This record gives sequence, structure tokens and C-alpha cells, in this order.
Amino acid sequence: MNSGIYGNFRDICRRNGWKCTAQRLAVYNGIYENYTHPDVDDIWARVKQNLPTVTRESIYRILNEFADCGIISRLDHMVGARYDFQTEPHGHFICEKCGHISDFVIAAKMELAAISLPGKSRHIEVRITGTCDKCK
Ligand SMILES: [Zn+2]
Ligand SMILES: [Zn+2]
Repeated sequence: MNSGIYGNFRDICRRNGWKCTAQRLAVYNGIYENYTHPDVDDIWARVKQNLPTVTRESIYRILNEFADCGIISRLDHMVGARYDFQTEPHGHFICEKCGHISDFVIAAKMELAAISLPGKSRHIEVRITGTCDKCK
């Protein structure tokens, strides 16, 4: 772990008025530059290596706290929520056989200004499901 992660983490805590707890730091460390779209159990398994007594509920709460502040994205309406360190708009290809999620690039500047939404957007995602190359 380098000082960059700690620096980011301290800034995030300060901005949100959070205490820099060991649990939050461990969850941040588990999701930092993690582009595998982990679920709560993946992060829990990683955090438990250093903090064996941490509960799944704590991991879930902290991940959702991060997602609510836009530090990570939460991908809903899957079998279980998945989390993504990539918060820029991008596409997800989801294999219906093995469940693997991979990113793909979408036009960087979708003309959002030209779309009149009936509300305030929180999350933008293009999701395509099908069969991945490995399962094909
Ligand atoms: Zn597959
Ligand atoms: Zn993604």
C-alpha cells in the first residue's frame, strides 16, 4: 500500500466528515483500483485478512456509504450488489452463464445535456448481457 491510497482516503474522510477508522480504510483498500466488480463477500474476504472480527454488515454499510458519496459505483439489480472503482460512465458486459462482468468503453460524452430526464441522475451505465468468449 502506498501513501497515495492513504492520502486519498484521508481527503475522502475529511470531505465527508467521517472518522478514518481501520474498517473504512480496509474497505477502501479492498476496492481501491479494483476493477473486478467485487460483491460484498469478495471485499469481506479481503478485509478479514487484516481485521478478522469485522462483520459482513459493516462491509456492506461502508461500501454503500462510499457509493452514496460517488467514491465507487454500485451496480444494482444483479443477483447481489456489485461495486466498481470506476465511476466514469462505462458499459458492462455480463455473461449469463458464468456471471463474469467486464467493462467496455462507451462514447465518453453522451449528450446528456440534450436528454431531458424526468429527475436527477445518480448513476449512468450501459448494460449488455449475453455469453462471454470463454463460455461461447
Ligand atoms: Zn461466461
Ligand atoms: Zn465497471
